[in-house]
Amino acid sequence: MPRVALLGLGVMGAGMASNWLAKGFALSVWNRTAAKAQALARKGAKVAATPREAARDADFVFAMVADDAASRAVWLGADGALAGAKKGAVIVESSTLTPGWVRELAGHAETHGCGFLDAPVGGSRKAAESGELRFFAGGKPATFETARPALSAVGSAMDLLGPAGAGATWKLINNQLVAAQTAALAEALAVAEKAGFEKARISALILAGAAASPVVKQKLPRMLERDFEPADFALSLMLKDARYATDLAHSLGAPADLVSGAAKAFARAEAKGLGPKDFAAVAG
Ligand code: NAP
Repeated sequence: MPRVALLGLGVMGAGMASNWLAKGFALSVWNRTAAKAQALARKGAKVAATPREAARDADFVFAMVADDAASRAVWLGADGALAGAKKGAVIVESSTLTPGWVRELAGHAETHGCGFLDAPVGGSRKAAESGELRFFAGGKPATFETARPALSAVGSAMDLLGPAGAGATWKLINNQLVAAQTAALAEALAVAEKAGFEKARISALILAGAAASPVVKQKLPRMLERDFEPADFALSLMLKDARYATDLAHSLGAPADLVSGAAKAFARAEAKGLGPKDFAAVAG
């Protein structure tokens, strides 16, 4: 079985780690907050003291961390994973990040003699736990094929969308839509509630209408009940994605009125202390 290293044991990383272990992969893990690795150690993961140590001997080194700054911190530097990765290992960056940083990281991987894929994911906590993530990948076709067994163990669908950075780019386009729809739902609910409609009626009418997209269906009950815990996807991360997506649109000369408006709504909620709650708390 190939050996996998995973950096980052948050909501998504913890689910992925459990699936690799359940499918018999040898897994080493590292997390900034070491306590989060304990449950996985009991399931058979080897817990490393640094990203560098986790990456040693691994055939595939995955990261699943918050943002560009976290990704830089786990890959680069004396204790970073690239310093420990063996030549020929495949580096897989699965966090939602900017295409600019991802392409820079691909260059670092090449300098170290490693293959590289950006492979951010669609699906949330449940999909991570059940091994049904969808990977949006960027990189070389041969590297994608090499990584297929490790990706298939935690995902049920995967698309190679182009060279390094293509996966990161598509993920931001996807979340541009998710952020805009969720912020729009929060605004519509505020109007509906202030206009005097009852919760049950609001819910029934939205769910029967053309605007009931999968994310609207998912977040509507949480918003109506102000039920924002546990966070399947933290509001602070959706704010990050809306900002990255706004920057991407601007860099391509495309309009970003709705996603930048969504970023404002998420930023307002974060300023109220709702950053760690589920992103449905944009209605908080
Ligand atoms: P999470 O539960 O908040 O976990 C974040 C992880 O990043 C934790 O392991 C955290 O370590 C680590 N981290 C944060 N800052 C760091 C730093 N400076 N240095 C090292 N490690 C750092 O997030 P998540 O929900 O698993 O999401 C992970 C990534 O997947 C994000 O890019 C997110 O946008 C993306 N994503 C999430 C979902 C979802 O539904 N949750 C879906 C698709 C994609 P600590 O434990 O020490 O804080």
